[in-house]
Amino acid sequence: MSVEPTKMPVPSAEQFSKHLALLCRLVSRSGWSDLGASHMSVRVGSNNGFLINPRGHFLGDINPDMLLHSGLDSPGCRNKSDFEASVGVETHSEIYASRLDVHCIIHTHTTASIAVATQREGLRMYSIHAAMFYQRLGFYRAKIGENEAKAWTQALKTYNAMLLCHHGMLVCGRNAPEAFVRLHLLQKACEEQLACQNSGAEYFTLDSDLCTAISEQTERRLSDHANTVWGGLISSLGVTFK
Ligand SMILES: [Zn+2]
Repeated sequence: MSVEPTKMPVPSAEQFSKHLALLCRLVSRSGWSDLGASHMSVRVGSNNGFLINPRGHFLGDINPDMLLHSGLDSPGCRNKSDFEASVGVETHSEIYASRLDVHCIIHTHTTASIAVATQREGLRMYSIHAAMFYQRLGFYRAKIGENEAKAWTQALKTYNAMLLCHHGMLVCGRNAPEAFVRLHLLQKACEEQLACQNSGAEYFTLDSDLCTAISEQTERRLSDHANTVWGGLISSLGVTFK
């Protein structure tokens, strides 16, 4: 289940902040921002430092210079209290520290992901998008009194996606394009499951062998696919950061 090292070029420090700002805007345009409560980050450099979106700002308004940096002396960090107050900092820190293959994290509260995450059987194999996550999907259900950051990290295991019961989903990637495409795919899988269940009709479930094949193929091809569509996604936003 472990992720192979990326073959994609490593962005410069300036590109990291642009990628994250664009990622925020893409999530917003998709309707997944939850009034700015969603949070996303990108790892910067070779240590566990990262950029994350600031609390209290709509994702559609995020610019690179608004992002918060985990290193207090780094560009983009406005002050310590800003960073500590940013939603999700502890969780992102914990995941980056334990998962060196992860370079981007997105957490959202979409209606479809909450609706599926809260079902007892979770994500069912009703669509090819669901099969892309076959045996590659973590699950977390909150327990009172536990350290949430550590619990999320343990529930994620070595996967790059996780459903959070009553709460939403979290995806990871080796870069922003990969994480966004994974978010898109999991969101589609959840919407498709709800569509099947709401149709009132009987439906088939994909065979496990086919699910395995689809899941393995997705892992092999996702990075290239994400790299290919990222340029078009950015162009469609119609924004250029200097
Ligand atoms: Zn949340």
